[in-house]
Amino acid sequence: MRVLVIEDEPGIAQFIRQGLNEAGYAVDVASDGQAGLNYALAAEYDVIVLDIMLPQMDGLQVLRQMRSRIKTPVLLLTARDTVEDRVKGLDAGADDYLFKPFAFPELLARLRALLRRPPLQLDTILQVADLEMDVANREVRRAGKSIELSPREFSLLEYLMRHPRQVLTRSQITERIWNFDFYGDSNVVDVYIGYLRRKIDNGFDRPLLHTVRGVGYRLSAEQSDG
Ligand code: CA
Repeated sequence: MRVLVIEDEPGIAQFIRQGLNEAGYAVDVASDGQAGLNYALAAEYDVIVLDIMLPQMDGLQVLRQMRSRIKTPVLLLTARDTVEDRVKGLDAGADDYLFKPFAFPELLARLRALLRRPPLQLDTILQVADLEMDVANREVRRAGKSIELSPREFSLLEYLMRHPRQVLTRSQITERIWNFDFYGDSNVVDVYIGYLRRKIDNGFDRPLLHTVRGVGYRLSAEQSDG
């Protein structure tokens, strides 16, 4: 899951980034409204955390401009708890609110709730052959056997399972599972695919995770033709 955080206070931005990273999300941070809007329109985020009081362009302006183009769920952060602010925010297209200061677990719970909402059409139970993922409960099983994954491995597998039989390129995977700050070599994708393969395919008759040579990877019950 990829999250955009638009927040100008470095301490709060860092606090959110670190917490979300630890929870397995890929996070980009923009520190003013204009940059935030640019990021939001340039990449496909699953959810956006947007501060209201921002330099360049305030959060409500960002939201209005975003809403004419994209439907990504938005959680507004505000220091002010007034009815007027909430109404303005909802009118501008916010999906939820959180007042500062907030406890990180509450932010995480609200983001999860937004990710479960119908407009995104996200299934919470994914299945490819005998491999099953319960996204809400963070559980993975193959042929009924429970598989333990790290948060990053889980995100990678979720992305593959949401695009079954489709070939996903290394750069698609890098963009989706890592973030704009990631300039490392794309070998990291191969490394994580290797971890995942050991966990979901080793010890089973039929491999599900296929390498499509020179292109990328795909998850499929059928044999790879690449
Ligand atoms: Ca602010």
